[in-house]
Amino acid sequence: MTKIYDLIIIGAGPAGITAAVYAARKRMDFCVISKDIGGQAAWSGNVENYTGYQFVTGPELAAKFEEHLRRYQIDLKEEQEVVSLKRRDKGVMAVRTDKAQYEARSVIIASGKRSKELGVPGEKEFKNRGVTYCATCDGPLFGGKDVAIVGGGNSALDAALQMTRIARRVYLINSFPQITGDAVMRDKIMAAPNVIVMNDARVLAITGDSFVNGLAIGHGGQENKIEVQGVFIEIGLVPNSGFAEEIVANDFGEVKVDCKNRTNIPGIFAAGDVTNVPEKQIIIAAGEGAKACLSAFRYLAQQK
Ligand SMILES: Cc1cc2nc3c(=O)[nH]c(=O)nc-3n(C[C@H](O)[C@H](O)[C@H](O)COP(=O)(O)OP(=O)(O)OC[C@H]3O[C@@H](n4cnc5c(N)ncnc54)[C@H](O)[C@@H]3O)c2cc1C
Repeated sequence: MTKIYDLIIIGAGPAGITAAVYAARKRMDFCVISKDIGGQAAWSGNVENYTGYQFVTGPELAAKFEEHLRRYQIDLKEEQEVVSLKRRDKGVMAVRTDKAQYEARSVIIASGKRSKELGVPGEKEFKNRGVTYCATCDGPLFGGKDVAIVGGGNSALDAALQMTRIARRVYLINSFPQITGDAVMRDKIMAAPNVIVMNDARVLAITGDSFVNGLAIGHGGQENKIEVQGVFIEIGLVPNSGFAEEIVANDFGEVKVDCKNRTNIPGIFAAGDVTNVPEKQIIIAAGEGAKACLSAFRYLAQQK
């Protein structure tokens, strides 16, 4: 017979890890299912807005989260992808992954977001052969090379800043008339000697042979070509909510929650970037993860 947990937490980013720490301290019978540990926090460059750390890199902060998580005896199902979440009878939820099936009386969806694709010719072909979505992970591969960062928001600026210290030349290809990211980061970009900002510019295609060698760009009514060996796509994120078909989401695919992290299905809660809670930040995701766990704990107490 399949074991029925009190709680299943989907995702081990800041929201899921914090929920797990709270659940462990409440001695709940739970497991965490996740593709990785750390989530987007591990891809962040420099984090300067997590209270208590005036400065910490994303990977360092993610390692601290993991260390805290592993202090407890947690049933961690690593490297598993949840493919469906369904409500069964008698208030039991069925969570199916690419490897197994699990059941619980409550679930916290903390599956965060993933990078949006550009959708231009060459993107799929050159993925991991010059096309990447993570400057923190792949940036060091482009030492002394010319690279393009596509986007103009905070993620793009963060990637561009990281690459100014690694690459020879950094093009920032922004489709809007102005950079939309934070002023502090924008000023740092403008002051960097090896950055070329192209506003109002659209990537038309990514070109190459066995690896990327350039970009075709629509700029000022003309098509230009630039030579680059790396392309970092930083045009935003989409919520990882597709597996939760019965859950109500907003137009952006973000799971709708109330102030107690409750979704439309009793017993299913959600926290962090995957939700419609405004502002996607590590500290907010962590706080929401704590709240979601406490709400699940209260929900289970009422059921018993
Ligand atoms: C480049 C970059 C820089 C950033 N810089 C900052 C910063 O300086 N300060 C700041 O506060 N915030 C920053 N952020 C935002 C911050 O990282 C996020 O707000 C935060 O990580 C959200 O946490 P989360 O737990 O909700 O989701 P995520 O961090 O996205 O974690 C989601 C987790 O769920 C797992 N998962 C996803 N789908 C499934 C599935 N189907 N099955 C199983 N597991 C799944 C993932 O593997 C991951 O472990 C940055 C983000 C990026 C991308």
